[in-house]
Formats: sequence, C-alpha cells, structure tokens
Amino acid sequence: MAGILFIISAPSGSGKSTLVNQIRSLVDNLEFSVSYTTRAPRGSEEDGREYHFITREGFERMVEKDEFLEHADVFGNYYGTARRSLAEATAHGKDLLLDIDVKGAAQVRQRVPDAVSIFVMPPSPDVLATRLRNRSRAEGSVREDVIERRLAEAKREIENYREYGYILVNDVLARAEEELLAIVTSERLRREGRRPGPEEERLVKLAEGCRQQNADERVRPVLAAFGLLAPETAKL
Ligand code: 5GP
Repeated sequence: MAGILFIISAPSGSGKSTLVNQIRSLVDNLEFSVSYTTRAPRGSEEDGREYHFITREGFERMVEKDEFLEHADVFGNYYGTARRSLAEATAHGKDLLLDIDVKGAAQVRQRVPDAVSIFVMPPSPDVLATRLRNRSRAEGSVREDVIERRLAEAKREIENYREYGYILVNDVLARAEEELLAIVTSERLRREGRRPGPEEERLVKLAEGCRQQNADERVRPVLAAFGLLAPETAKL
C-alpha cells in the first residue's frame, strides 16, 4: 500500500522546524523529503541533509525536465520537492513528510488529493515578531524591515488556512508536538482501517479537535490578532 503524504506549512518563525524534528524522532516509517533550494546554506546546514543546495541554472534545468512534484519562489529563492522523493517513499511503503510553503502545498494537493495537510499558526503577530527577532539576533543582526516583511508574509499565508485539513496553533510547544503526533497516528489508523487502542483513542480525539472545521475556537483569536477578523467576531 502506498504511504501517506503529509504536508506541513507555516509562516517563517512559527516553530515548524522544531515540530518537524520532533515528529521525525518520535515516529517510525516517516521519511522526510529533502527539498532542493537555490538559497545559500545557513549555519550548520549540510548539503543533502537539510536541503540539496543547487544553482539557479541547475534548478531551472530540473524544472525543464519536469523533475519536481511542486516548486515555488519563496522570499526570492527557488524551492522544490523532487518527484523522486515521493516515488522512493512509495516504493518503500513509507509515509512522506513535506515541509513546504503555502504555494507548494496547493500544487501538491492538486496532484495528490488524499495528501494530509497541516498548517501551523503562531499565536499572534507579537509572539511571531519576538521569535523572528530572537532568531535574527542569534544569526547576527536584527533588521526591522525584514521582520516587517516576514510579518506581512505571515498574514498572507495565514489567510489560506482553510485550504489545510488540520490546524495547529503553536502557543505551547509541548501541546503542538502532541497534536502533531495525534494527527499522524490518527491518519495512519484511518488508512489501515484499524480500531484504536485506549491511548490511540485519546490521540484520535485530540486530532479531531485539530481538524480545520473543528478548530474555529482556537483559530479565531489568531485571525483577529493578525487583523483578519473583526475583533468583536473573535470573541464569539
Ligand atoms: P527556509 O529557507 O527558512 O529553510 O524555508 C523557507 C520556506 O520555504 C519555508 O516556509 C519552507 O517550508 C519552504 N520550503 C522548503 N522547502 C520547500 C519546497 O521544496 N517547496 C516549497 N514550495 N517550499 C519549501
């Protein structure tokens, strides 16, 4: 049986990488798709581990040869998921996790309609700005114009949250981690048609609460904080 394709997207600074690393260490048989990118490696990143780092010419050649399942321009750099990643995971009967942006996720959903998509939201623009500033400081310097740009981009991405099957609000990391584990467990049970045990039953309930159509109560305050809802509607 072909594995499950999980897509996770989030605005930059939402804590998605931490969540992705955690789920990879907790769950077996979940491959992580190493994307191609034209951006330069950061910090301790290694070619072939976080990304395949590639020139723009190399990337464009891959596009011409139709080697990507999806690709997008994110903050001025190209990023793409190789079709090969999916083919290999399928051949090995493994689930595959894609950490990709909103534009890429839309392309994958069209090509793989039963993909499970998860959107991670920061709790508020203030929390996001603090995280972005801390990260920039750790990398050397804080540029307020860059922070402002990232916040505006986050707002645009959050506007698309209804395209995703599940929503996580990353205010308390341990909770978001458990919810992500719950979604993976619950989707696996569903596809296998297996009855959940007692602990799995709890996770299935937790996952249900994260389904986009059930997550209104948690999502509303975030939308309001980003100016995407009238404040009085946020309290309903
Ligand atoms: P970063 O440069 O900070 O690692 O990633 C920037 C953004 O690019 C993140 O939102 C990340 O999810 C997204 N991204 C990483 N790989 C891919 C990919 O293969 N395709 C698309 N569409 N986005 C990607």
